[in-house]
Amino acid sequence: MASEFDLIRKYFSRPTHQTPLGVGDDAALIAPDAGMALAVSTDMLVVGTHFLPDANPFHVGWKSLAVNLSDMAAMGALPKWATLALALPTADEAWVEQFAAGFFMCADKYQVDLIGGDTTRGPLTISVQIMGEVRANQTLLRSGAKPGDEIWVSGKLGDAALALAALQGHHALDQDELDACLSALNTPQPRVELGLLLNVMVHSAIDISDGLLADLGHILQASNVGAEINLQHVPCSHIARSRLADPLVQQMVLAGGDDYELCFTAPVRNHAEIAKMATLIGVPLTRIGTITEASGLVVRGLDNQIININKPGFDHFA
Ligand code: ADP
Ligand code: MG
Repeated sequence: MASEFDLIRKYFSRPTHQTPLGVGDDAALIAPDAGMALAVSTDMLVVGTHFLPDANPFHVGWKSLAVNLSDMAAMGALPKWATLALALPTADEAWVEQFAAGFFMCADKYQVDLIGGDTTRGPLTISVQIMGEVRANQTLLRSGAKPGDEIWVSGKLGDAALALAALQGHHALDQDELDACLSALNTPQPRVELGLLLNVMVHSAIDISDGLLADLGHILQASNVGAEINLQHVPCSHIARSRLADPLVQQMVLAGGDDYELCFTAPVRNHAEIAKMATLIGVPLTRIGTITEASGLVVRGLDNQIININKPGFDHFA
């Protein structure tokens, strides 16, 4: 059976590009470039809570870093360094090998160095800390939304929740639909490039990890404003769209979670520039509503009537 040190040497020690001292000493060393602030965030994945016990370790590895990169995107930061704290029930080398392959596939795509961590025995838990650089005056915060701002969302919402519902037997999907939704659930693509480009064009931003309503709710609370959005405008795949009359699917799109898209608010005068930038980088952006002076979140349904988001089925938000 491999020891802790075998696992670290074999699977988690890689050459670094963003610092000369990564894994191997008592601490790694990093230095942000002159004039840049360090953005730091941690996200933990616990078996049974954030992924199913039989989840493919490659996907768990990808996702454990990707969800952290999504937080960097939401801050407008460039991710550079990560640490990885890993609790494993046994030194299952086959699992660790696949986990590391997924983790480093994501790390290589976004040019992030794994610079340290900790490895111990325990219930399967993965805690990643991500660090990145951001110009202090160009940080995207939750607190800057202003009445009249347009509310934008990147990509499509709801497919990850649809996949999870299908895996749990709550909702039937065809095989090709399931495959498409599973890729949203298993290998989310964090919007790092988008976050870096939004900087001065937007007033507030957040990444959608707990569902649109909950995360937009955080912007509203931090900014002391309200919002009105329209379900008809919320971007979703043709798979969700074709089922959108089903209240359960509406809930997955509005409140499902695991989307890792960005939600941001921006003044109307920047609309054309934002749309142009989105086309340039090939990220779909959709305007879903407006920030209001009156507090509260009003959601209009397919018939344009207000949906009661506090009724059962939406208690995720309540
Ligand atoms: P210490 O006893 O000083 O905490 P460890 O034996 O835990 O050191 O770790 C040895 C080295 O390996 C350290 O540089 C640590 O950051 C790194 N390390 C441990 N586990 C991991 C991991 N899962 N991923 C990346 N680096 C790790
Ligand atoms: Mg240690």
